[in-house]
Amino acid sequence: MGWLKMNKYEYVGHLHIHSSLSDGSGSIREIARAGREAGLDFIAVTDHNTLAGKETGFEGWQDGILVLVGVELGYKKNHYIAFGVDKPISADDSDPQKTIDAVNAQGGFGYLAHPGEKPNPAFLGGSFYAWDSWDVEGFTGLEIWNFSSIWREAYRNKLAALFWYFVDRHRGARYPEPETLKKWDLLAAKRPVVAFGGTDAHAFPVNLGILKFSLFAYNFLFRTVNTHLLLDEELSRQSGRALEQVLETLRRGRFFIGSDHLSPARGFRFDAFSGEEKSAGMGDRMPFAPNTVLHVVSPSRRGLVRILCNGKVVCESRQKAVAFKVLQPGVFRVEVYWRPRLGKPVPWIYSNPIYFY
Ligand SMILES: [Zn+2]
Ligand SMILES: [Zn+2]
Repeated sequence: MGWLKMNKYEYVGHLHIHSSLSDGSGSIREIARAGREAGLDFIAVTDHNTLAGKETGFEGWQDGILVLVGVELGYKKNHYIAFGVDKPISADDSDPQKTIDAVNAQGGFGYLAHPGEKPNPAFLGGSFYAWDSWDVEGFTGLEIWNFSSIWREAYRNKLAALFWYFVDRHRGARYPEPETLKKWDLLAAKRPVVAFGGTDAHAFPVNLGILKFSLFAYNFLFRTVNTHLLLDEELSRQSGRALEQVLETLRRGRFFIGSDHLSPARGFRFDAFSGEEKSAGMGDRMPFAPNTVLHVVSPSRRGLVRILCNGKVVCESRQKAVAFKVLQPGVFRVEVYWRPRLGKPVPWIYSNPIYFY
């Protein structure tokens, strides 16, 4: 199959959303409407420790948006976001390997949620929900970018947070979690580890007397840290088949994360070629071969492309299309920074890796 036929279909969606079935404020119907308003193709609702969303009848196509129902398992720490499961699982905070195994036993897969989250005494009474069991196995990937965690870390008190909420509420979309990125590179050196991003959307109601609002409305967040899936075929109009297509793409890591409020990340591509033939795309693992060239396409001339090998930058370019010869085995991934008219480039796009080992 030629390159032009591959990666032909790009679908933009949003992962890690809570509805009123757990501690979010919107019903799945309202969240789907917010997704359509934001121009999304799909959304994944992942309520805490419940699959009740599957019983609402809203899983599948809903007036042009595909609704997935996953679950976020865990209570005080070690949250695990799972997809492809149908039967309830009771999470064990102190032994998350059991949670991961229970998901895998159902043929599902999952990601460590906000693993590097930090405490901040100004929010949630200082509670935080990091991952502390790093000897686990069998998980699919990591949440490298969680809007809510990054936002909560940023402010020393609620007044500052409130002020900045009305001045610039994109703080949580400014960068992925730096320590989690390092962890990801270390883990991915040994086996493929899929990176995903989300916002942990809740749309919490805030009531300060005269000031009532929904903190980070769904349709605001759905324009920030989004997931761009690449499929070789169009999504089926049949719900069951379309859900399978999206789940398989999430499991394989054939997607990238785009902080879409800076500029839509649609059109980014990262592939490997051997001679004229495309040999691998994001999420693929293949043996290292000479004459392999990485091709990167930035969606805008205002991008700064960085190619990384095992977490270290090996190429930096302001070109819209970049070709880079692979000279050694390793894990290659791409970051694209948005170059504003004033100030420093800011994180914009994070690819999943191509693994040469
Ligand atoms: Zn969580
Ligand atoms: Zn969550």
